Amino acid sequence: MKFKIITFGCKVNSYESESLKERLLEEGYQEAKKEEDADYFFVNTCAVTNEAEKKDLKKVRSLGRNYPSARIVVMGCSSQLHKERYTSLPQVDVVIGNSKKGMVEQCLESKTNDLVDLDSRHFHYEDTPTKFGEKNVRGYIKVQDGCDNFCSYCVVPFTRGNSRSRKRESILQEAKDLLASGIKELIIGGIDTGSYHDPEDKSYDLTHLLRDMLSLSNKPYRIRVSSIEASQISEEYIDLFASHQDILCPHFHMPLQSGSETILKKMNRKYTLEEFESKVNQIKAKIKDAAFSCDVITGFPGEGEKEFEDTYQFCKKIGFMRIHAFPYSERPFTAAGRMKDSVPVYLRQARVRELIKLSDENEKAYRKQLKGKEVTVLIEEKNKSGLYEGYSENYLRFDVSADKSIVGQFYRLKID
Ligand code: SF4
Repeated sequence: MKFKIITFGCKVNSYESESLKERLLEEGYQEAKKEEDADYFFVNTCAVTNEAEKKDLKKVRSLGRNYPSARIVVMGCSSQLHKERYTSLPQVDVVIGNSKKGMVEQCLESKTNDLVDLDSRHFHYEDTPTKFGEKNVRGYIKVQDGCDNFCSYCVVPFTRGNSRSRKRESILQEAKDLLASGIKELIIGGIDTGSYHDPEDKSYDLTHLLRDMLSLSNKPYRIRVSSIEASQISEEYIDLFASHQDILCPHFHMPLQSGSETILKKMNRKYTLEEFESKVNQIKAKIKDAAFSCDVITGFPGEGEKEFEDTYQFCKKIGFMRIHAFPYSERPFTAAGRMKDSVPVYLRQARVRELIKLSDENEKAYRKQLKGKEVTVLIEEKNKSGLYEGYSENYLRFDVSADKSIVGQFYRLKID
């Protein structure tokens, strides 16, 4: 039987889809190269914005129309948030939501098409390890799921449920498997990664886990943390990175969301701008040339010209070498969804464009700051112009020329 997995949204969704793929292949299913060859479709949905949910539903409908004999399984955040949109579609066989992603293949036998557990605040951690990783050079490892922070704009605590962490043994085993399969960079992630702690030992947190991942192989490899909240960065965490820069990538992706104190409060974020900046300075003091990137939401209710200018100036002051800017999107069940002072959509988008321009300027300034310095690029692929591309430890993209393939190699270069 042939299957096709269609994944929307975040890296955690991609990871769960990768795990499902590996399990289905192990059970003798084949991955269909083309949609028309598939007997089964697994659609892993996203609900981070209205647009995302529209895309999910449009895709599921078109699959049902184009391939009436195929079986369709819908899972992920949109099916957790709006299951009726999928259970009401005759072409959909099973709707799973966000629990049971570790046993999707068993759900195929289900007599009912509605397997969504709506009690998302009491989910248990489901282990969905991978052995080979999505890409052949960098391997993502999910260590935590769910979130208890309830930022006022965010639907994730309702769709992914309560924060829950994975057993350290399972994580370390997956890391060894990935390194054994040739992966050179391990990306540690989750939904609220910084809240990680071993379920059997609450004192064992992300810093302990990273320390235990420093000597998993005698072949060269490195570790990158995909994202961490400023409020979750401890002195021990910074010291560990400072003393192991050869393995722990000195790149800190810290979601900011706004540079206006007023808006941060309305967002129910867990830090002040002063605390955020002091964390950045603590890191800069111990890790010279550390790279900082962030997420920002523009057009949150009440964000006037002044509030946005504050955000712009704060991003400029910190010098984020990459700013992921998103226009605010009203989400159901969220506190912000009930707030007044809505900002026109065209203004939200215009502010995104301004921040992307600033992001490019900041990246140029950061590259200039590193002029003459050496970095190590992990070559991921050969691009259309025949150059080999990859990221340095501080998350700058480089392309280099080489006579023979250097994909999967660590390549040392001096920034000119
Ligand atoms: S920390 Fe905030 S933005 Fe991030 S997933 Fe949790 S509630 Fe959403």
